[in-house]
Amino acid sequence: VQGYVGQSVAVLGLGRSGRATAAALRAGGADVVVWDDSVPARDLAAQDGFEIRDLTKAGAFDGVAKLVVSPGIPHLYPRPNPVIAAAWDAGVSVDNDIGLFFQSFATPEWDGFDVAPWIVAVTGSNGKSTTSALIHHILVENGRPAQLAGNIGRGVLDIDPAHDGEIVVLELSSYQTDLARALTPDIAVFTNLSPDHLDRHAGLGGYFAAKRRLFAEGGPDRAIIGVDEPEGCYLANQLGEGANDDRVIRISSGRKLSQGWCVFARKGFLSEVRKGRQVGSIDLREIAGLPGAHNHQNACAAYAVCRSLGLGPKGIEAAMRSYPGLPHRSQLIKEHNGVRYVNDSKATNVDSASKALQAFTNIRWICGGLQKEGGLDAVIPHLGNVAKAYVIGREATEFARQLDGVDAAICGTMAAAVAQAAKDALPGDVVLLAPAAASFDQYDSFERRGDDFIACVEAETM
Ligand code: ADP
Repeated sequence: VQGYVGQSVAVLGLGRSGRATAAALRAGGADVVVWDDSVPARDLAAQDGFEIRDLTKAGAFDGVAKLVVSPGIPHLYPRPNPVIAAAWDAGVSVDNDIGLFFQSFATPEWDGFDVAPWIVAVTGSNGKSTTSALIHHILVENGRPAQLAGNIGRGVLDIDPAHDGEIVVLELSSYQTDLARALTPDIAVFTNLSPDHLDRHAGLGGYFAAKRRLFAEGGPDRAIIGVDEPEGCYLANQLGEGANDDRVIRISSGRKLSQGWCVFARKGFLSEVRKGRQVGSIDLREIAGLPGAHNHQNACAAYAVCRSLGLGPKGIEAAMRSYPGLPHRSQLIKEHNGVRYVNDSKATNVDSASKALQAFTNIRWICGGLQKEGGLDAVIPHLGNVAKAYVIGREATEFARQLDGVDAAICGTMAAAVAQAAKDALPGDVVLLAPAAASFDQYDSFERRGDDFIACVEAETM
């Protein structure tokens, strides 16, 4: 990180990104002080030679030039985090690692490149990781050096400085876009919007506003926007300056588009249309790593990014065929006695679970966990493909009560749910973990929940 030589910078939160931030600031010549509520996290930082300073104490910000906050720390709502409030009171500006990253790229030292490093930023409620990983995969397969960072892969300040012509693909969550002072990607993607993290962002309006910051005035040269919800449609119309404007590429899964430059998927076919002419197409039905209409939306977004970076439709299609998929997202674990076992543990909200329920039929649905604000109503119209629900989690009974009209068994644990689903399943059925809830009532993370599912499936199908 540049621009802080000899200045004192405070880092709040010492998880993966906080540690990378502290190290990058120190490498850039800043005097770094750090704080985390957790004693083990502080001990680790002390071992790395960082000065630990209790930022909750009066006077902690004397002489400090900047406070850098980790994305996991709520800071605006329901009330400012006390450390942040203290920084504000002391007149200290607050930023996060993403803001520092963009600020560093804008400093004169980066201007010596023959080819500017391209930065692609991906946001949206669902599909960010899949879209980011797919873009990265297509670029690398086509011989374009690229790095994957942000909410997926490495912390943004952990990556090697970009080399000539190297493309940086950043996955950005609303927890990251809401605080970053600078957000200036060359290409920005908005996949879709559905309610999530409402408690932290003060409702859907605040949540959209956090994502919208990536498209502010002076923002990306190219905006790739999913227009399947009103918010995306509105955003695209706001950014585009007319039918011939190339600044916006609209994408859709399910709808035929014709305005300006657009990429859409219908009945398994992707089409690229520009000024009324079809200029590219891909048969997505043959791409094993991207099942379901929701993944076709991700394919459209990745395609539009790669076209923007100068790749041809054929090269993109060939790379999509070898896309291996990500763990815990529509991940086929095994097929046993004609039954498929699919791990979609990342379906932590109602929309992503609804999409999973639309991607398969004859579903033995393992669901439940820590419910999000907004209830389960949005999943009800998509229960037609569900043969039976197997509900896990501490609130399993309450969860099952909301699944109107579906045969539901209260299982509690993953082991019980998998055992019963495997026992009930007939050839052609899909045993699907797509919880529509967070994992924290029973697990540390959605990854551990998915791992437990895999272990239970292995045990049941030996
Ligand atoms: P994110 O990084 O935004 O959470 P992921 O690619 O990790 O997105 O996918 C999260 C969950 O949403 C998974 O359950 C996945 O199957 C589902 N999903 C993936 N892409 C989409 C999409 N475009 N729309 C809705 N759900 C999606």
